[in-house]
Amino acid sequence: MNNFEFKNPTKIIFGRDTIVKLAEELPTDAKVLVLYGGGSIKKNGIYNQVKAALKDITHFEFGGIPANPEYSILMEALQVIKEKHITYLLAVGGGSVIDGTKFLSAAALYKGDTPWDILANRTPTLKGLPFGTVLTLPATGSEMNSGAVITNNKTQEKLGMGGAGLFPQFSILDPQVIKSVPKRQLVNGITDAFTHVLEQYLTYPAGALLQDRFAESIMNTLLEVAPTVVKDPSDYNAASNFMWSCTMALNGLIQKGVPTDWAVHAMVHELTALYGIDHARTLAIIAPSHYQYNFEAKKEKLAQYAERVWNITEGSVEDKAYAAIEKTESFFNQMGIETKLSKYTEDFDGTAEIISKRFTERGWLGLGEHKSLTPEDVENIVHMVY
Ligand code: NAP
Ligand code: FE
Repeated sequence: MNNFEFKNPTKIIFGRDTIVKLAEELPTDAKVLVLYGGGSIKKNGIYNQVKAALKDITHFEFGGIPANPEYSILMEALQVIKEKHITYLLAVGGGSVIDGTKFLSAAALYKGDTPWDILANRTPTLKGLPFGTVLTLPATGSEMNSGAVITNNKTQEKLGMGGAGLFPQFSILDPQVIKSVPKRQLVNGITDAFTHVLEQYLTYPAGALLQDRFAESIMNTLLEVAPTVVKDPSDYNAASNFMWSCTMALNGLIQKGVPTDWAVHAMVHELTALYGIDHARTLAIIAPSHYQYNFEAKKEKLAQYAERVWNITEGSVEDKAYAAIEKTESFFNQMGIETKLSKYTEDFDGTAEIISKRFTERGWLGLGEHKSLTPEDVENIVHMVY
């Protein structure tokens, strides 16, 4: 097992009817900006619950943060933060609203002229404006981690940011919010969380027995509850297990002491930036080919994954490893997620070259657990997914 340090300061308030506790988490003299997305919270009652909980707290609102939070819209919210002298942010939404709020938390205290530089220069944020979240969509884990991904439509870029200052102070997770989530977003959430685990688990073996078991148990739980969640998101027990699995998949715990890969996420953000494909679907497109391409380096863990997650016990290490990749892809397909780029856009010619050129320009010359995946490898992998 590798050396590690672990600190996750986010307080989780989990369970039925927990949004009423919101005001207890906020300083009484806070000036809060409530941030939300395209309006789903106004239809499903979450907005009213938040408003009721905030009745004694000074607050303002900024709605309209789109999926794949867009820089120019966030800059409008930054203006409101400055004009109203906001002291605390509250994200009410899924990964996009939470990530957008993290960007604002960093940008509000940023001293430079152009907040985009936080992303372009990968400047870690050590202190941000404090913020909390009310999660409405289990998927990303953003409610309990310090990372964010922001889109710039003008330059067709989607870049990551983060830092120890960007953990939410608290996150409220009421599994009842899942009732209104459309099927497309439910399967996206399952796929995103499942792939987060794969990114941290499918490397070379690192002897981290407990982390392996944690990772496998999150995947097994997701597989167990997925059919019920998709069929009936108002099933409270399935919803709560789904929600907690998504949070646990990316709150830092399972990545401690292990190498982690993350090359899939690096590649897929380009597909969203270029074609607007949902984040989870881009993962389903790239992940199977990534594991095939890096088969030799990953086959032992792939075989372990085959045995412990897919119950494949027959055959050689290679047989099991291949079968696990097939099972993973067909799991995505069974949920209605296409795994070829050509199913999403006819305009895919040259995608591999564009992505590898961008990686070269950014100096992303070695990805993956060995930092050895070159832009040329990336080009080869993206070619496999057309
Ligand atoms: P999302 O983009 O936040 O939301 C997708 C859609 O679901 C939106 O249209 C939203 O509507 C709707 N929605 C959310 N909650 C709902 C509810 N309770 N009922 C009905 N509709 C609801 O989806 P996401 O998958 O959570 O986030 C994706 C983003 O997170 C991507 O940009 C991805 O790159 C990023 N990401 C971040 C991390 C991280 O660790 N920070 C990890 C993985 C991915 P409204 O707009 O109306 O709310
Ligand atoms: Fe993700």
